[in-house]
Amino acid sequence: MRGALVIQTSFLGDVILTTPLIAELAKRGPVDVLATPQGAAVLANNPNIRSVIPYDKRGTYGSTLTLWQTIRELRARRPYEVAYLAQGSFRSGLIAMMTGAKERIGFASSAGRVLYTTQRPYRPERHHAERLWSLSMSECADPPTPEQIRPRVYPSDADRRAIDLLLRRDGATDEPFVALAPGSAWGTKRWPYYAELAKRLSDDFMIAIIGSKADAQIAEEIISELPSGRVINGTGGLPLLASAELIGRAQAIVTNDSAPQHLASAMGTPTLTIFGPTVPEFGFGPLSERHAVAGTKELSCRPCHRHGPERCPLGHWRCMRELGPEHVASLLDEVLNPPVPV
Ligand code: SF4
Repeated sequence: MRGALVIQTSFLGDVILTTPLIAELAKRGPVDVLATPQGAAVLANNPNIRSVIPYDKRGTYGSTLTLWQTIRELRARRPYEVAYLAQGSFRSGLIAMMTGAKERIGFASSAGRVLYTTQRPYRPERHHAERLWSLSMSECADPPTPEQIRPRVYPSDADRRAIDLLLRRDGATDEPFVALAPGSAWGTKRWPYYAELAKRLSDDFMIAIIGSKADAQIAEEIISELPSGRVINGTGGLPLLASAELIGRAQAIVTNDSAPQHLASAMGTPTLTIFGPTVPEFGFGPLSERHAVAGTKELSCRPCHRHGPERCPLGHWRCMRELGPEHVASLLDEVLNPPVPV
């Protein structure tokens, strides 16, 4: 069968938010996905995908030769009936066209739109998972149910075993824990009070730290605030889907506006997301059934950037500095203990 090609070479969070679109398309036929190596890792084991084609954007985008090699590989696999442009650059549009896909569907606002056969509206007021899912729908379709736009990731048995071992190593086999994800690619999106929050929570919960090697320093700061035996250090060495598994076993997660929030949505973990220079209204907020968001209200400079600048352009960084750990802890308490319906 020829099937559909989804092109998604954006950030990890965007890849996770593309999984509802992929699930919808899989009801109609086979789906292949072109994604960055990191994106490919988070799409592993996804039963809705026939094959993932890893595409090292940084390694290949600069080279016309290697870009052509990627296109040739896609053409050799199979001509696609339709390509969905979940990432909207001109080059992604070009790849879709060069694969021979007769139909190319993307957002009317995308840079590559002149190469599309169908342009769908980009609805800024909708969640991005819904926007992407809507690429597969006619404009008069009913809005999706929460289940239809639920992100999906699939940790393997090896990922589960890795977390079993980690919890055993850190003495957390039967202890409830809260996950903290203090990292972000953008400096102004990193809330500065995770260590204080961890200290407050450690009487009631063990603390699991989620992150990459880049988060080793903040992990050390958090660990230094905690009594020994109260921390599960998941930074640095875990595969992405093992991190998802760890998040999935937590009572709740506190995270910046970054990829762990979307992993938590996929795993159904109660989520508190801290927004600084960005706002949930951009369409990238948490989708777990139980969730809350923290953000400094009535700050006229906010939001100041689509992603979050590396440094505050005004120098004061009030959007994050004024969100104290006691406020965040009280919001987390609401997420952990929702009111019982009467
Ligand atoms: S300009 Fe405002 S919203 Fe942007 S980083 Fe600074 S304090 Fe935050």
